[in-house]
Amino acid sequence: MNPSQLQTVIGLEIHVQLATRTKMFCSCPFDYTAAANSNICPVCLGHPGALPTVNKQAIELALRCALACESQLQHQSTWARKNYFYPDLPKGYQITQYHRPLSRGGSITFNTTLGFREVSLERMHLEEDAGKLVHSGDESQGGSRVDLNRCGVPLLEIVTDPVLNEPAEAREFLMALRQILKFTGASSCEMHKGELRVDANISLCPGGDPALGTKTEIKNLNSFSGVMSALEQERQRQRCLLDAGEPVRSVTLLWDERAGRLQIMREKEGSSDYRYFPEPDLPDLFVSPDQIAGITASLPELPREKRVRFQRDFGLNDYLSGLLSTDADLADYFERVAVNARNPELAANFITSRVMHLCRKGSVPIADSPIPPEALAVLINHLSAGRVSGSQAATILELMWDNGKDADTIISREGIELLGDEEQLLIWIHQALAAAPEKVADYRRGREGLLNYFIGQLMAKTKGSADPSLLHELLIRELREETENDV
Ligand SMILES: [Zn+2]
Repeated sequence: MNPSQLQTVIGLEIHVQLATRTKMFCSCPFDYTAAANSNICPVCLGHPGALPTVNKQAIELALRCALACESQLQHQSTWARKNYFYPDLPKGYQITQYHRPLSRGGSITFNTTLGFREVSLERMHLEEDAGKLVHSGDESQGGSRVDLNRCGVPLLEIVTDPVLNEPAEAREFLMALRQILKFTGASSCEMHKGELRVDANISLCPGGDPALGTKTEIKNLNSFSGVMSALEQERQRQRCLLDAGEPVRSVTLLWDERAGRLQIMREKEGSSDYRYFPEPDLPDLFVSPDQIAGITASLPELPREKRVRFQRDFGLNDYLSGLLSTDADLADYFERVAVNARNPELAANFITSRVMHLCRKGSVPIADSPIPPEALAVLINHLSAGRVSGSQAATILELMWDNGKDADTIISREGIELLGDEEQLLIWIHQALAAAPEKVADYRRGREGLLNYFIGQLMAKTKGSADPSLLHELLIRELREETENDV
């Protein structure tokens, strides 16, 4: 089969560090900045006879995240030992959940340039982190050393179904997931601290069937741009192999963030290599309906709930409500404008286009917008009342952004007003019609869309100051009158 006809299939495993005060199975604190090997004890190092106890806060944070993603909580889940050797894992095993995870299923909906996308989840489970090797690359500096502070730090592993088809889509999914994790307080997701790490698997499959392609896995991605670049490169590598008639081998790859390069690490192990067996020192985990009800009640409003409410309360369409609700700060800003705006839909359009454009241009998060929501509502009300035109509103907005003045001050100081002089407008309309007789004729033959051409001409002529409703009314009247005169 021609490799270009193969569909890309991507699945993600995300490791999220939960925002607990102490580690998963002991009372050691975890501080990112602490001196190496200062936050450790016999339990997190796995000394003989040390017994783990489960961190209740970690369970609660994981449950919050699972509920927010509509993942079905399992009444009973179990702990297992995953055995492997690594220099940063003195225990020789990791406590995780294998056969019976904390939750199964669920989904995350997010917005892409092509519309809404829903990605289904396979499962979520709890586990503990390993330590960290620190490589100085210089023998005189001690070469490679090990810092065990991170041993036993609670992680929530979130596994998606293999349903993503584009590296960019994987990145957008991760951004939506991060929103939920922060929304629920489960994690602060600071990626430079390693609080959100991603393993991505990718295959090229005939007919998009994951069973028909050989997947490879990219480990330990810790930036969204890294996820996208690594997946792009790996897709290209697989395509080249298939083009040359060579098989894709099941391998694990490492992404070198600094060099922007992938490197094959090893042939992939099967899960049986880890010899999972039940963790003998921990009882099964039970989640009661009361506990679920309590956590559900304490959850903040989630993006999908916000979307429904924005449609109901503000009359927004699916697209605008989705766009505004995926980001908590943006949703909050819109809502504070909308309660003071006479036309919330106009406010939604204005914010998602004009205001967001300024935010992007200045790299300013919406929460730090120099225009208070109440002040923006005043401007939007002028626009909806026809006191200023769309292009005048855009100019006023930029001045508000730059100098912090309110709309009324700018309007009076800059002398911004709508051109409502009917006589003057009529002169220009007649000039515009006379300059384009063919278009006038086409309009008469039924091409009514040409009205916009004339509006554009006259808005340019008046530098956007023509009163839009008066201009509209006069133009239609003049075009029709001429039609009637000719007939
Ligand atoms: Zn400890």
